[in-house]
Amino acid sequence: MDQEKEQSFKNPRNIIFNKYEMGKVLGQGNFAKVYHCRNLSTNESVAIKVIKKEKLKKERLVKQIKREVSVMRLVHHPHVVELKEVMATKRKIFLVMEYVKGGELFTKVEKGKLKEDVARKYFQQLISAVDFCHSRGVTHRDLKPENLLLDENEDLKVSDFGLSALPEQRQEDGMLLTPCGTPAYVAPEVLKKKGYDGSKADLWSCGVILYALLCGYLPFQGENVMRIYRKAFRGEYQFPEWISPQAKTLISNLLIVDPKKRYSIFDIMNDPWFQIGFVRPIGFSTNESSIEDNDTNFDFMEDLDVPELIMTK
Ligand code: ATP
Repeated sequence: MDQEKEQSFKNPRNIIFNKYEMGKVLGQGNFAKVYHCRNLSTNESVAIKVIKKEKLKKERLVKQIKREVSVMRLVHHPHVVELKEVMATKRKIFLVMEYVKGGELFTKVEKGKLKEDVARKYFQQLISAVDFCHSRGVTHRDLKPENLLLDENEDLKVSDFGLSALPEQRQEDGMLLTPCGTPAYVAPEVLKKKGYDGSKADLWSCGVILYALLCGYLPFQGENVMRIYRKAFRGEYQFPEWISPQAKTLISNLLIVDPKKRYSIFDIMNDPWFQIGFVRPIGFSTNESSIEDNDTNFDFMEDLDVPELIMTK
């Protein structure tokens, strides 16, 4: 056991389900805590997201958890955090995930701009994960460096599918309606409440992420959310002088306000800057059908104190 694991498990607070030893808190979201844990029989590190059922009073939150689980159970890709199992007690839900050791990409960006080839590697891994999700009808809707984790090999893993959308959430015209995301990363059309193409909205966020990786700061900033939105609506941002013309071309084609004119995944994959050294993970075809026949079992949601919740598969 390495030093980090030793420290993390020095004072085990708990053993759950006779299977996992709980370690330190890795992070905290709005209604869940994520713990570093150890599988007692295999010694494998895992990350367990613990959600208190009492916090899920609103149906919106119940749906959020169900979506997160459905998507993670169905999307298996080297650059998407793996969900290993879901367990529940009367009061809590436990999402057991692979442990991604290197922390958030955000921590790196906070320290300043990345070298172009490092940024390209992360961006290629992000796009191959996003491509895979989109090919299965899943849009993430909250892509940002805080939700991109790095493993011990400095490889990227997309996490936090709490705001993601599944095919059944689309309207007849294939558009999504619910505005969601994080102000600095959200595509302008998402805020218009007129329906948006979730895939193109994800690609705007990818453009913001690529800009942030190469510049060390965000393209659309302001003292308040409205100012950020105003800049995004106008596509108003500048490049610092150190960005290469090829990278500028790619970012400029992602941060296009009109989603129809914005680069698609196909365009990104054919972009000369993107293509340098790009290797698509083997065996993860994006040609398969989407995940419409979702037979996810939600027994773990039982005992929720939400009157309008009817247990469905
Ligand atoms: P939010 O309220 O922002 O949606 P959340 O409740 O969905 O948050 P997560 O963002 O999934 O919680 O996780 C919170 C933090 O825990 C992450 O930012 C990350 O630092 C850490 N974390 C989450 N999953 C893992 C993992 N599989 N391996 C290591 N750390 C993780």
